[in-house]
Amino acid sequence: MKAAPMSAQSCDSSVPTVDPSVRFKRVLLKMSGEVLMGDREYGIDPATIDRIAADVKQAIELGVQVCVVVGAGNIFRGVSGAENGLERVTGDYIGMLGTVMNALALQSAFEKVGVPTRVQSAIPMQAVCEPFIRRRALRHMEKGRVVIFAAGSGNPFFTTDTPAALRATEMGCDALFKGTKVDGVYSADPHKDPSATHYDTLSYMDVLTKDLKVMDATAISLARENHIPIVVFSVLEAGNFAKVVRGEGKFTIVTDQ
Ligand code: UDP
Repeated sequence: MKAAPMSAQSCDSSVPTVDPSVRFKRVLLKMSGEVLMGDREYGIDPATIDRIAADVKQAIELGVQVCVVVGAGNIFRGVSGAENGLERVTGDYIGMLGTVMNALALQSAFEKVGVPTRVQSAIPMQAVCEPFIRRRALRHMEKGRVVIFAAGSGNPFFTTDTPAALRATEMGCDALFKGTKVDGVYSADPHKDPSATHYDTLSYMDVLTKDLKVMDATAISLARENHIPIVVFSVLEAGNFAKVVRGEGKFTIVTDQ
């Protein structure tokens, strides 16, 4: 059963009204760390995060409530650390700390364009950001603030896909938006295979049985169990996020059907 959100449409005057064109009123945006790199080999490209911030602002102005989970593949992944002899759990904690760095950079970019933003970390770090508190996060979102969930789940042996599905469920989101470098899910890699076909819709079972690499299997199962649609879209195309929250443009939606 889907977690009951605090009112998406409350009578509280501090809650922004939602534009009637909006299809998904409360969304969790999941981005991998690689998306933040732009054309760089490592780290964060300021122009890319500024552009993502401008896109998120457009959605906020439509009254959409937005929370974000960001990965850290642009900085560190526990698995690669383990391949180089680092203890896996330590590597995973370094990866989680990497997500906090990305979250702080995104917060700065969002606030530069006038979107109030709070970072909440699954590993408490009180000098840097808030701890994860679900009801406080919901209230921030209702007030039009973006909440960035950092440090993944706070536990090793996960990627950030699973906490993205977990937070989307906890926050009562209408959809989990997976922002990627391509405009949806294809039958093969469209950069390598010109005959690859785009899927407009898929079922959770299709994704799992065809091993379509939308998100990791734990995240897909969690979304399936809680009936949270997964929307795969290109976050690199300027203005696309606001389009897709209205159900327009090109994307793939993964649902029960
Ligand atoms: N991580 C973890 N637990 C979590 C989320 C992340 O241990 O709940 C660690 C893990 O080492 C992972 C790294 O943080 O590789 C970065 O996350 P992810 O690989 O999901 O980054 P992305 O591929 O999305 O950029």
